[in-house]
Amino acid sequence: MKISAIVLAGGKGSRMNSDIQKQYLPLCGKPVLYYALQAFQRSSVDEIILVVGNGRIKNMSEEEYCKKELIDHYHFNKAKQVVIGGSERYNSVINGLKAIQNKTDYVLIHDGARPCITVELIERCIQDVVDYNACVAAVPVKDTIKMVDSKGYAASTPDRNTLWQIQTPQCFEYNLIQKAYDDMIIDTQKSNITDDAMVVERYSGNKVKMTYSSYKNMKITTPEDLQIAEAFLFS
Ligand code: C5P
Repeated sequence: MKISAIVLAGGKGSRMNSDIQKQYLPLCGKPVLYYALQAFQRSSVDEIILVVGNGRIKNMSEEEYCKKELIDHYHFNKAKQVVIGGSERYNSVINGLKAIQNKTDYVLIHDGARPCITVELIERCIQDVVDYNACVAAVPVKDTIKMVDSKGYAASTPDRNTLWQIQTPQCFEYNLIQKAYDDMIIDTQKSNITDDAMVVERYSGNKVKMTYSSYKNMKITTPEDLQIAEAFLFS
């Protein structure tokens, strides 16, 4: 059984208000992206495909920076390829999927901006994707969630017991995710694709299983998230 991981670091991170893309900001002395790469390196995943942006960091292209300062420096020898992403997250995923050269059985897609991912969670996701063909790391929501209208008024309140917060890794049998993305690309009506499970839900008949994750597997989005992640990484 071959398992490939696509680690996404091709975003601009505009909500971070920083000149440096969020995946390269320092977190406990190392770039944010280091932690996800380290977890996948230590897991039973066979190869890592890293998707980066086409910007520059420390006077290098992102590709050059990642190869030199992360992959070579920390001996992440499972990171076999670094590819350039696209304008939307789903374009970056498609470029990552294209980079899988030899046949693989399962693909785990992870946001490089989630540094608190653990080897234990990766292994749980692998177990579930083998059992269900499609699964996503997720946690039940803690807050009440409201649908809000365009004027800022509450429109409805979905039953909290049915709501889960979706994270990554998002994991799929390879042929299933490849076919779902192929179908999505030719769909002229596609809109608002924010995760991979949506693509599988819309373009395949396969159900997506929730893999119970941890509230610590947060995504770095705004500046205060770095402090929270630092506390989680060392707790
Ligand atoms: O923007 P957001 O925080 O939702 O991005 C989630 C992950 O997807 C991040 O790790 C980001 O680097 C990545 N991404 C990407 N290509 C894009 C947009 C986001 O690889 N075009």
